[in-house]
Amino acid sequence: MDDLSPATLLSEPYGHADGSVTPPIYQTSLFTFDNYAAFADRMAGRDDRALYTRVQNPTVAAFEGMMAKLEGGEAAVGFASGMAAISSTLFALVKPGDRIACVEHVYPDAFRLLERMLRPIGVEVTYHAPRAFAEDPDLLKGVTLAYLESPTSAVFDAMDLRRVAAHARRHGTLTVIDNSWATPIFQRPLDLGIDVTLHSASKYISGHSDTVAGVVVSTAEIIAKLRDLTLPLLGGKLAPFEAWLLIRGLRTLPARMREHQRSADVFVDRLADRADVTRVNAPGANTVPGLIGRSGLMSFEVADSVDIPRFADALKHFRLGVSWGGFESLVLPCAIALDQAGPKNSMQTFGVSPRLIRISIGLEDVEDLWNDIQQALDDAHT
Ligand SMILES: *Cc1c(COP(=O)(O)O)cnc(C)c1O
Repeated sequence: MDDLSPATLLSEPYGHADGSVTPPIYQTSLFTFDNYAAFADRMAGRDDRALYTRVQNPTVAAFEGMMAKLEGGEAAVGFASGMAAISSTLFALVKPGDRIACVEHVYPDAFRLLERMLRPIGVEVTYHAPRAFAEDPDLLKGVTLAYLESPTSAVFDAMDLRRVAAHARRHGTLTVIDNSWATPIFQRPLDLGIDVTLHSASKYISGHSDTVAGVVVSTAEIIAKLRDLTLPLLGGKLAPFEAWLLIRGLRTLPARMREHQRSADVFVDRLADRADVTRVNAPGANTVPGLIGRSGLMSFEVADSVDIPRFADALKHFRLGVSWGGFESLVLPCAIALDQAGPKNSMQTFGVSPRLIRISIGLEDVEDLWNDIQQALDDAHT
């Protein structure tokens, strides 16, 4: 990251025309050429100027450049969603006959991708507890790719990524991590030896709950593979306007994460003090090596005396909904996810308590937020 801290890096203007501090939005599908020779040079690969927005766009490239620097990677590629980033990564790096070792309690649609699209074409998939990846040096023997989250979704179980990466290197296993929860402000997986870090940029990277997007950061070689294969052929490209929104979001990422952490720390202390809260899942700084902060997404279990629908309905500031990472605070009672219709999700498969409640602590005043949770819990006793 040169020698700049993230906050300085992210405020840098990019030398835009007339001194504009924000980049222009190249809202165009194609780029034209002045003459035959210039067009022919581009098509023959003798230069790499933008040709068509499905594969190249300067606004998207500006976002990708910022993400590569933040994560400490050689290159990055943006996608239309976190799931486009995940599926484009897996389809580029894995083929029928290969084995994927995935962490339990993985993001529900990543689980469905493995079960409904990769397993049916002959990719073998196994699931393991986070601890097993670090503690069993032979877990990755014969495994092509380890698909990781640290911490995991729903139960927020973290793993020692440095150890996992060392085991993986010995077995020739590629490691991919979904780093949406920590963001590069709190965890830089590539520094710990992980090969690929990716995000649902819909969450903290955007920070404003106004866009759905994804991004993958890795070596130049791996990103070139995605650019050669799954970006053009599956076509899940990041749109220029969305990239512009993400650049806008990134400017405040360090400041937002600091605030999320401050409020989350208050919540962890106070939740632990309540007799009707039986468990808090919220890893923070130094829970595992390389994790240096606590984001605002956590879960806690409530005692049987708490009527969960009544708790949810008594909330005044926290809103009910999926997603997270925005300015607004959210609650997701896991009983609702356990009841979800359709193909099995990862919560149903790996099992979470129906007493579990996930909260995303936003940027509102922490005392207002805590008072809200407190009055709703107090209100919900049977
Ligand atoms: C939301 C989410 C995703 C999926 O991202 P989309 O942008 O919604 O496609 C992937 N991983 C995690 C951890 C998420 O929370």
